[in-house]
Amino acid sequence: MQLRWPAWLSRLAPAALSLPSQCGACRAWPCRDVLCQSCWQRFHHTPRRCTGCALALPGIATERPRCGQCLQHPPPWVQAHAWCDYSYPWQTLITHWKLGQQPGLARHLAGWMQQAPDIAQAVAQAELLLPIPLSSERLRTRGYNPAAQLVQHLGAARHKQLLTTLVRTRDTPTQRGLTRAQRLRNLRQAFAVPQAQLAAIAGRHILLVDDVMTTGATFASASQCLLQAGAGSVSVLCLARTA
Ligand SMILES: [Zn+2]
Ligand SMILES: [Zn+2]
Repeated sequence: MQLRWPAWLSRLAPAALSLPSQCGACRAWPCRDVLCQSCWQRFHHTPRRCTGCALALPGIATERPRCGQCLQHPPPWVQAHAWCDYSYPWQTLITHWKLGQQPGLARHLAGWMQQAPDIAQAVAQAELLLPIPLSSERLRTRGYNPAAQLVQHLGAARHKQLLTTLVRTRDTPTQRGLTRAQRLRNLRQAFAVPQAQLAAIAGRHILLVDDVMTTGATFASASQCLLQAGAGSVSVLCLARTA
């Protein structure tokens, strides 16, 4: 059950109430940020990542590294970016955010993403930022699309996001526990670009944004849809990458 502040208390100090009072990892108190300084130093790493699948590639020093798998089977996008691995404590924060317990986290998460030089550059270079859409059924149950929240905060300054450019054509069964091949089958023709939006994407470089990237099947399906509909090129950006 979600606890709600009484209305009179929320009106009194809404900004202060939205600030976490404990570190999101070690629970140190008081903590005026999402994580305390020592947890940030302990858990925040910026490994070099494969530009195809965004998996961490320790020890590779080339300019645009690719793992063997991505060299053999290049993905449909130009470059993949991830801010963190989907592991503690980020996984816990993301779960709280997505379950609606801490909706304010979206702004912090997007802010952290923007501070990573490769992500800031990817956002700056994109002509359009598009969130991976949820099906209308899923959107109704959840009430919001986490990926769209990230796009809103990442691209808010330049109004790049167009939420209706890429749509979900049907409600796909959950991807959890499926292999990459099964996920790709599950997602076949799950995305579409409405006729009225074709001109908006024609020849454009698009940055597709999602909260968590697991096998890349969702990004692959959405990228192929955009490219077939006339987009110039696609790059992908996730907040967290499962290892
Ligand atoms: Zn801490
Ligand atoms: Zn790779």
